[in-house]
Amino acid sequence: MSGRIVFKGAVLLDRTGIRVGDLAIEGDLITSAEAAVEPGPGDTVVDARGGVVLPALVDSHTHLRVPGGEEAETLASGTMAAAMGGYAAVLAMPNTTPALDNPARIAQMLAAAADLPVKVLASGTITKERAGAELSPLAALSKAGVKLVTDDGSGVQDANLMRRALQYGAELGLIVAEHCEVESLFGGGVMNEGPLSAGLGLRGIPAVAEEVMVARDIELARATRARLHLLHLSTGRSAELVERAKADGVPVTAEVTPHHLLMAEDLLRGYGSVYKVNPPLRTDEDRRALWRYLARGAFDVIGTDHAPHPRWRKEATLDDAAFGMLGLQHALSAVYTGALGALEDGVRPERLPGEVSASIAGLGFDESKAARLAWLWQIAAMMSWQPARLLGLGDDFVGRLAAGSRANLVLFDDSSEWTPTAASILSKAGNSPYLGLRLSGRIEEVVVDGRRLVGSGELISEGNWH
Ligand SMILES: [Zn+2]
Repeated sequence: MSGRIVFKGAVLLDRTGIRVGDLAIEGDLITSAEAAVEPGPGDTVVDARGGVVLPALVDSHTHLRVPGGEEAETLASGTMAAAMGGYAAVLAMPNTTPALDNPARIAQMLAAAADLPVKVLASGTITKERAGAELSPLAALSKAGVKLVTDDGSGVQDANLMRRALQYGAELGLIVAEHCEVESLFGGGVMNEGPLSAGLGLRGIPAVAEEVMVARDIELARATRARLHLLHLSTGRSAELVERAKADGVPVTAEVTPHHLLMAEDLLRGYGSVYKVNPPLRTDEDRRALWRYLARGAFDVIGTDHAPHPRWRKEATLDDAAFGMLGLQHALSAVYTGALGALEDGVRPERLPGEVSASIAGLGFDESKAARLAWLWQIAAMMSWQPARLLGLGDDFVGRLAAGSRANLVLFDDSSEWTPTAASILSKAGNSPYLGLRLSGRIEEVVVDGRRLVGSGELISEGNWH
């Protein structure tokens, strides 16, 4: 298909600020932004009035389940869900069967993903087979292009092994990413430990199982000066520890998930195993605390922890069901819905760059619209260009909507309200916690490398996945 894609009358949001105007795409580049564009014959015109065009998203935490878990997800189904969710790239986590702990396996997975419309990046394990006993060949992994290593699914229990991983990681320029969980404190739980778990008669996972490892790893990063990244933090206390470590200059970054920002443990009252996830949904007090710390800059990225499971592994009692929930397809709406709740609580992003705040003020919107746009900017930073930077994608991959920038972008209708249905799920698995939930804001268009993957809220170019 030739011709340009022209977005008319959008609010354009990128890392430099927010403005209003048209945007044109030709080939894989943005050729014009802000100035009025007159569409010609052959151009595809998108009426973007009332919506916000923002850089495409990058997920720092996706379980694609390849190799070994194709019953739950395939590279094609996972990246279709990613495209619907506005993602131009996802980081595949290495807790597969077998684990991605050596360059040959990683090369094989990447080769299979090479032609997909959404870019798949690989991570590697910290320890061989994620067994927590012996370091993976970190130098070889780094040479193979891996930027981040993690034993995600479990934490590195041996403190000295973690220290050595950080030391080697620092030498190699690798980010060592921890799933913070002390197994001896985990206690075989299925939900957050507290009065609710006791009342429901379910075994609990205490907050300290996470917080003790957060504290340990921060001290190891302080001692080694190595780049530590903490995955899916779920408690207010974890966020506080990160905030203090950052203030001390410890080289730590942290991730929070859409589900921990939107949902809390009370959803488990109905014993629904779709809400079983690790770390567990915490108290609503923790959830609100995550927003307050996020507003102050404690977190760097929002990663989905997209965790597909075959039906039989989730349609079981809470004790028997697998941990994990889908995330890619609804992440942006889920986070935006959570942000509107935070706004009602009086929480606003406190770290917007001056030029960004000034650009919002200059648009002349009413106070409430301006506050919502400020949150959307903060969310875009944490779901788009900050994860891109973390994963070494380079500043040109996403983040700028300007002539000459790569055409990786999303049109988000921030005023629509909707309820996702099971029929719309593109993952092979169906374990989404967002079905039947009222969400604010919806992705209408997705363009990756100049290709329109989503149009009018529907996946298009389906043939690209086969
Ligand atoms: Zn994890």
